[in-house]
Amino acid sequence: MRKRPVTQIFNPEEIVERILIKDILYKCTAGETVTVCGWVRTRRESKGFAFIVLNDGSSQETLQLVVPGDAPAFGELHRCNTGAAIRAKGILKESPGKGQKFEVEVSEIGVFGDSDPEKYPLQKKGHTLEFLREIGHLRPRTNTYGAVFRLRNILASAVHDFFQSRGFAWVHTPIITASDCEGAGELFSVTSLDLENPPKKEEGSVDFTQDYFGKRAYLTVSGQLEAEFFAMSLGKVYTFGPTFRAEDSNTSRHLSEFWMIEPEMAFADLMDDMRLAEEFFHYLCVAVLEKGESELSFLQNQYKRISLEDLKRLSETSFVHISYSDAIKELENEKKSFEFPVQWGLDLQSEHERYLTDKVFNGPVIVTDYPKDIKAFYMRLNPDEKTVAAMDVLVPKIGEIIGGSQREERLDILEMRMRQTGVPLDNLQWYLDLRRFGSAPHAGFGLGFERMVQYITGMPNIRDVIPCPRAPQTIGF
Ligand code: ATP
Ligand code: MN
Repeated sequence: MRKRPVTQIFNPEEIVERILIKDILYKCTAGETVTVCGWVRTRRESKGFAFIVLNDGSSQETLQLVVPGDAPAFGELHRCNTGAAIRAKGILKESPGKGQKFEVEVSEIGVFGDSDPEKYPLQKKGHTLEFLREIGHLRPRTNTYGAVFRLRNILASAVHDFFQSRGFAWVHTPIITASDCEGAGELFSVTSLDLENPPKKEEGSVDFTQDYFGKRAYLTVSGQLEAEFFAMSLGKVYTFGPTFRAEDSNTSRHLSEFWMIEPEMAFADLMDDMRLAEEFFHYLCVAVLEKGESELSFLQNQYKRISLEDLKRLSETSFVHISYSDAIKELENEKKSFEFPVQWGLDLQSEHERYLTDKVFNGPVIVTDYPKDIKAFYMRLNPDEKTVAAMDVLVPKIGEIIGGSQREERLDILEMRMRQTGVPLDNLQWYLDLRRFGSAPHAGFGLGFERMVQYITGMPNIRDVIPCPRAPQTIGF
């Protein structure tokens, strides 16, 4: 019987120490033997050699594997198709090719998982982002989404670094909540009632006292109210977690499930809040420039929607401050070119926000002191009694990225504002207690994490910066 060639060199079950492709560049020298694992991007054969381009997700870098025709590993090559997961061992050589320092002359190769090249959905030709959204489980293997999700990780880590290094404590506010105080129409309900046959009260409405929690419950739209009681005890806190909005907005900047970062500070006013927002924004820009340069360069070259230079400039530019009333004056000059009306008392639409950031100031802008009637009940009433100490940070192309305010710390005024806006006081006695016992000025804001990732990466749609986007009629994966 013919002896089986030594092709199945690796037992895939066996765990071997591998080196990450991103580490090879600066940890290894030519002549060293390395083992790498990853997914095959391409394979071609030429003049008795086979060439495999491998990526392992650790960076944008790929590694070229060169398999000489006489290597025992050559027999395994037919299985190393695009998409296959493989392991290779060999000697690092200086690469004669452009754009790469090293390649590996392979002596041993093994396949963990095959991939049928006819059926593998990721072909070499460029796919549209829309198509890739339909294969959300495979899209992180592409250069584009690899870059986006590594940048997302850098940003997430920088969020914690920023707050932790400034003495903020991370508080884990609840995901299921009973306070439906913010925008009643936008809440997802949480229930364990039988939807086909819910218990009814005598007059016919659903009896939620028989529901799981004994009352109506929802997915949270914001962790702010709960963060406030930690600000009023630990002093400086932040949340970083998922929030949910059942808003029916099919836009490129709204998701039904998104992550929010909400710092909240005791003994702070609106100025402190704006200063924190700006510092935070700059910090995140610097962090991606330092740690994600190759990802950013890739996206810059591929889509031309961001530039490292702009980001660098942005990381050093102070935000322009403008009051809502002055912003309205700016907008009134251009009234005719807008679809939506411009008038003191009406909320700014995204076309208005973009006009301010893209046309008037060409950079990030903080709009402050909005009319009280278009903002939430907890924002602090200004001495003019018409506006509140609110601030929105607007950035070019995206519009609102941060919304924040100084909170109303005066019990009588807060109660009045709640009555005026129809917020039931009964449900929020705990919130009012914070004003009854040791109240103090405090302020905070919310940054939509995906909006920030979208801004930094320049991805046109917010669905392209979260692993599994949820939006109206959309819940794959
Ligand atoms: P917008 O006017 O853009 O809908 P908003 O006024 O509803 O925003 P806030 O309630 O102030 O936003 O929430 C704070 C931040 O959360 C916003 O500045 C934004 O960055 C982000 N955000 C709000 N809604 C969404 C959403 N549906 N998807 C992703 N991010 C969001
Ligand atoms: Mn909204």
